Amino acid sequence: MSRRKGKLFVISGPSGAGKGTICAELLKEENARFSVSMTTRAPREGEIEGKDYYFVTREEFVANIERENFLEYAEVFENMYGTPKDVIMRMLNKGRNMILDIDVQGALQVKSAMPEAILIFILPPSLAELRKRLEGRKTDKQDVIEKRLDKALNEIKLIGEYDYYIINDDIETAIEKARSIVSAESCKVPDKVKPIIKIYENEKGE
Ligand code: ADP
Ligand code: 5GP
Repeated sequence: MSRRKGKLFVISGPSGAGKGTICAELLKEENARFSVSMTTRAPREGEIEGKDYYFVTREEFVANIERENFLEYAEVFENMYGTPKDVIMRMLNKGRNMILDIDVQGALQVKSAMPEAILIFILPPSLAELRKRLEGRKTDKQDVIEKRLDKALNEIKLIGEYDYYIINDDIETAIEKARSIVSAESCKVPDKVKPIIKIYENEKGE
């Protein structure tokens, strides 16, 4: 049987909603790969170059735009973020499921470039809880947290563009829902059904 192409899952939602936590769980699945974005943001403590992000200067970022290296890119909280295109195409062709943790602007660009992408929106149970999580994470200064909270409602207003949503109240329940979405999407009957039929024809000697 020719190998099934991988699926592209885009995870978005307000900063602090739990995207990173949920993605980390999805990535425990053997067939899943994380799309490492390029950013002009400074690394946070503990972030690893090439694992969390490729940290670059604005000049390097612009050079990548000019070389058309991005599937999508956007300015988020005064920094540039972009999804490198090549690795995604290579991995999808190898049958890997790609997980993208990107903002709403980027998600919409991906959907228009690749309509088959599956868009999942992560919601916090409330804006008050979102604040608590951002403050509890202790990775951003207070002014950065305020900017992220200010943007949350505008991001949530774009939920209608997404295929699925998950309210991340209890983390275990949210992870289970995310896994179920990936699982169900992987069982969808593809447009090209010949490779599936072929398995049984081969077995029957047809
Ligand atoms: P994002 O990637 O969307 O910015 P994170 O995954 O970093 O969000 O989560 C933000 C903070 O909230 C982290 O400290 C994380 O451990 C915590 N968190 C995530 N999900 C939950 C949850 N369901 N209940 C309580 N805290 C959570
Ligand atoms: P953070 O600075 O907290 O890592 O990310 C800030 C926001 O940028 C998050 O909403 C995250 O999903 C988004 N982001 C991360 N990488 C990309 C990317 O490659 N493209 C876009 N458009 N957004 C990204």
